[in-house]
Amino acid sequence: MTSDPLPLNLLRLSFQTHQEFADWSESNRKMLTHIWRWQEEMGNRPEPFELPGVCDLCERMTTYTAVPRAVKDSAPPAFRTEWWDGTRCGCGMSNRDRAALRVFQDGYQSGDRIYHVGCFSSFRKWLSRRIPKVMASQYEEGRRPGEIANGVRYEDLTRLSFRKPRFDTIVCMEILEHIPDYKAALREMARTLRPAGRAILTVPWLGRDTYEHLVRAEIDESGEIRHLLPPEYHGDPASKEGILSFRSFGWKLLEEFREAGFSTARAEFVFGPVHGYMKLLAPVIVGVR
Ligand SMILES: [Zn+2]
Repeated sequence: MTSDPLPLNLLRLSFQTHQEFADWSESNRKMLTHIWRWQEEMGNRPEPFELPGVCDLCERMTTYTAVPRAVKDSAPPAFRTEWWDGTRCGCGMSNRDRAALRVFQDGYQSGDRIYHVGCFSSFRKWLSRRIPKVMASQYEEGRRPGEIANGVRYEDLTRLSFRKPRFDTIVCMEILEHIPDYKAALREMARTLRPAGRAILTVPWLGRDTYEHLVRAEIDESGEIRHLLPPEYHGDPASKEGILSFRSFGWKLLEEFREAGFSTARAEFVFGPVHGYMKLLAPVIVGVR
């Protein structure tokens, strides 16, 4: 992978605490309101988008596509476009995928050992086509951590089979919300990263002012799932039914990274519509060992 930036600047923001972010957003309130209005108004239409742009990962001209969804029970009918999960480049990567790859690429050095949690996502395939040494694993109930079957490695992120620190980067996209004991997963990532190694994550994010997490479900004393909110299932490339989300995250997550053994954690934002980074306030979370 090359890391030469294209000549059109991206807005890059990085915050280590909720307070840092709150101070910044307070002094940029007008700009944030403009961007939010622009996104909401433009996204309010029934027809799919085709937005010409430049993909700084593919390093070529492309056409981004995004599909508006009808807002439930709205009269008159209204639509909202999911820029973060959409805005797909011809390479298949969404705004979220590309923002994470952009952050990944900034700190990547040739020869780095990468661990990608999950085998079957298009994100993992993109990574494996371009860089060597990507280890990937899959979770499946009843499998022993470290077990290999039919060429697939199985791991449990709350008790990884790797004895010593060995990774320069761990990539964990849209996984943490599905792990009831997500703090154990953070500790295991910290334990298996080399000094100064990075964990790069995306999670369902509650939004700019929210500090506490939103707990949707938990495991009770008898080991059963207890739903506190109507269950929310996310698409899973390994299962047809989808997978239950236990929580959405607030800014508290950065403190929990530090408690889990990371030296720092930050929320990084990438914004630049020409490059198909349409969503300003959705973060890529980076924990540094
Ligand atoms: Zn692309």
